[in-house]
Amino acid sequence: MDLELTPEQRAIQTLAREVAEAEIAPHAGAWDREHRFPDELYPKLAELGLLGVCVPEEYGGAGGDFLSYVLVLEELSRADAGVGVTVAVHTSAATLPILAFGTEEQRARFVPPLARGEQLGAFALTEPGSGSDAGSLRTSAARDGDGWVLNGAKQWITNGSRAGTFVLFARTDPTTAGARGISCFVLDAEHVRITREEEKLGLNSSTTSDLVLEGARVERDRLLHEEGRGFTVAMATLDGGRIGIAAQAVGIAQAAFDVASRYAREREQFGRRIGDFQAIQTKLANMAVEIDAARLLTYRAAWLKQEGRPHAVEGAKAKLFASEMARRQTAEAIQVLGGYGYTKEFPVERYYRDAKITEIYEGTSEIQRLVIARSILGRGLREDRVTAAPRSS
Ligand SMILES: Cc1cc2nc3c(=O)[nH]c(=O)nc-3n(C[C@H](O)[C@H](O)[C@H](O)COP(=O)(O)OP(=O)(O)OC[C@H]3O[C@@H](n4cnc5c(N)ncnc54)[C@H](O)[C@@H]3O)c2cc1C
Repeated sequence: MDLELTPEQRAIQTLAREVAEAEIAPHAGAWDREHRFPDELYPKLAELGLLGVCVPEEYGGAGGDFLSYVLVLEELSRADAGVGVTVAVHTSAATLPILAFGTEEQRARFVPPLARGEQLGAFALTEPGSGSDAGSLRTSAARDGDGWVLNGAKQWITNGSRAGTFVLFARTDPTTAGARGISCFVLDAEHVRITREEEKLGLNSSTTSDLVLEGARVERDRLLHEEGRGFTVAMATLDGGRIGIAAQAVGIAQAAFDVASRYAREREQFGRRIGDFQAIQTKLANMAVEIDAARLLTYRAAWLKQEGRPHAVEGAKAKLFASEMARRQTAEAIQVLGGYGYTKEFPVERYYRDAKITEIYEGTSEIQRLVIARSILGRGLREDRVTAAPRSS
């Protein structure tokens, strides 16, 4: 067992940390307050190869491994979780499924513009009526000659209003309810119409859009993987994506710990630094242990994925623990700062708001527990359903 990062992993971690500290952290508070998507940032990240970290060089990426990508997400999220989710969805939810399930022609056509950061990617699964139960989605793709015509609505699509490429799921077999009639398509921005931008509790520097498909016609070359096998694409994508969300949660919690531990050294009450009080020491010690535990779970899941080994359960464990840890420990960071923690003078209230979403998207904590429980108790428990609710968005 080797817990050391390789020189390549260290180098990309350092690069991401430097760009996050120089280009992101100083502006994150303003982007949050102004609810502003920093369009100017992404060409800079693209130039450094950070929008295609784990994409092979032959497809325009930086050629790093999946753990390198996870390290980058952690560093970006430490500075701004909105930037973290933008890069996470772009990479693991939009670019990687095309690499994994695309034909050679599709990989060569769609991946390089994404990996080089010439355009952002989005992943469109959720609909107004289907979240955790993604297999019940209703967007339709009706046969039309050699292609399909898509109609329907998608909700809360990260990067929706900025993306050039959408990995989108629709029902190609209206006679089959549940997951089996779903197919996956690669669409362009012109195939969808953005109808609304969501206002959120946090992640205010990211975009979350509703969109509609109004008779969008696509040819056969837009079908990703086999017809009727789209749910497999969605679930495999989320198995990997969850590891990225775990890294995002670790980054947010680390940022909160950094502020809280610095504050504990400086703030004085009763004539002593508050860090001299055992109650505050206990909080900082618990934060340090839990962040470390979450990070190790996350790195293990990333390592399993890059080794091509099963990682669905390990990814679910990492996401579950890291996200709940981030919510708990960002709240503790506010407590260490007292009243100042509750104000906008310090960033910990932003970390607290940003941390909450990691318990919800790419599968809620309840769904992660179902995935883990099923690995313990077996599938038989849920044979009454084909919609595979326990493995959904
Ligand atoms: C900021 C943001 C960004 C997002 N980005 C994207 C994106 O890019 N692409 C995309 O497709 N989607 C995206 N989503 C959607 C997200 O993945 C869903 O919100 C999530 O999967 C949960 O679905 P839901 O909100 O419909 O909740 P529901 O499924 O309605 O769940 C409500 C509650 O019921 C619980 N529940 C549901 N089913 C079960 C069950 N079987 N057992 C126990 N408890 C259960 C849930 O855990 C939750 O507590 C985003 C959402 C947000 C808020």
